[in-house]
Amino acid sequence: MQELHDAPLAPLTTFRLGGPATRLITATTDAEVIAAVREADGAGTPLLLIGGGSNLVIGDKGFEGTALRIATDGFRLDGTELELAAGEVWTDAVARTVEAGLAGVECLAGIPGSAGATPIQNVGAYGQEVSSTISEVIAYDRRTQETVTLSNAECAFSYRHSRFKADPERFVVLRVRFRLEDAQGLSGPVKYAETARALGVGPGDRVPLAAARETVLKLRAGKGMVLDPEDHDTWSAGSFFTNPILADEEFAAFRARVSERLGEGTEPPAYAAGEGHTKTSAAWLIDKAGFTKGYGTGPARISTKHTLALTNRGGATTEDLLALAREVVAGVRDAFGVTLVNEPVTVGVSL
Ligand SMILES: Cc1cc2nc3c(=O)[nH]c(=O)nc-3n(C[C@H](O)[C@H](O)[C@H](O)COP(=O)(O)OP(=O)(O)OC[C@H]3O[C@@H](n4cnc5c(N)ncnc54)[C@H](O)[C@@H]3O)c2cc1C
Repeated sequence: MQELHDAPLAPLTTFRLGGPATRLITATTDAEVIAAVREADGAGTPLLLIGGGSNLVIGDKGFEGTALRIATDGFRLDGTELELAAGEVWTDAVARTVEAGLAGVECLAGIPGSAGATPIQNVGAYGQEVSSTISEVIAYDRRTQETVTLSNAECAFSYRHSRFKADPERFVVLRVRFRLEDAQGLSGPVKYAETARALGVGPGDRVPLAAARETVLKLRAGKGMVLDPEDHDTWSAGSFFTNPILADEEFAAFRARVSERLGEGTEPPAYAAGEGHTKTSAAWLIDKAGFTKGYGTGPARISTKHTLALTNRGGATTEDLLALAREVVAGVRDAFGVTLVNEPVTVGVSL
């Protein structure tokens, strides 16, 4: 276990933003993670859990308390059952499942960060979400001070959300178990239209696992969604806003605003999102509100490759980033009456 004082947190985040933590502990075993959490909780000190720092916006003042970086390792495959330690690098684990010929997470290749953080916002991309394959999550429960095993249902997964995100002070994920599929070297059904097009197949078809993974990585790279230290378009948290889910009457009002502003007959993107609800596209809203790729003049700007990613061009502060985020939220609200919600977790700051 390594312990540093007044330790900068910016290098631990993909935004490269945020001030120092009073104390930074790096834990490499479950026992070290639990000991550090117990100690901080026992002393009543605020605790910040950090995996790969790819979904974190930390304030310029930093974090007064204990930041705990979870750097445990462990990849165990037994048939189609996979168990990952929280600190495993997610995209590497995905590559290994593809090599092992197992389907279920191949379209989640290229998502930065740790395996332990995947259940927090139920990571998803290109038609897959971890909630479809997670069988159990093993976590330390800070309320009961015990290690618990939560079933998939107990994780209360939904779109970019879970029980862990709803109650962030309670669980520390130690291990995640997945039930994958042996489809004889083929992927799961390709659900996302863009991936199907790129693969030259129809939606619902299966393709060789490696082809699915490589296609997703290529599509992601074209949007600045694969980490590259040389490319400022990837100094981000991926999508900065979630896609809004609107109740029927809200969606009707939104459609009317779209027609009014963009011309009769213009239809916003609309996807079914459970009874009485429709999901629309945050990227579309941002673009149509006038915040196009590359928008901004300061050190925090919209990615030149994707309207949904806010980025640090180097030398930005968290305040610069938040100012841009607030401008986008206000602009979209004024244009379309829809309030965007940030996807990354904010620490010591809010929009
Ligand atoms: C270029 C880029 C592309 C991205 N693309 C996608 C995408 O396609 N789909 C998607 O869903 N996300 C995407 N993201 C967001 C991000 O990669 C994921 O949310 C990822 O799961 C975060 O993992 P992390 O380890 O970096 O978490 P961190 O940023 O370190 O932490 C995120 C949150 O989880 C908590 N946390 C971390 N580890 C644990 C643990 N072991 N137990 C309990 N809480 C914990 C933290 O306290 C924090 O609240 C992208 C980000 C970037 C930078």
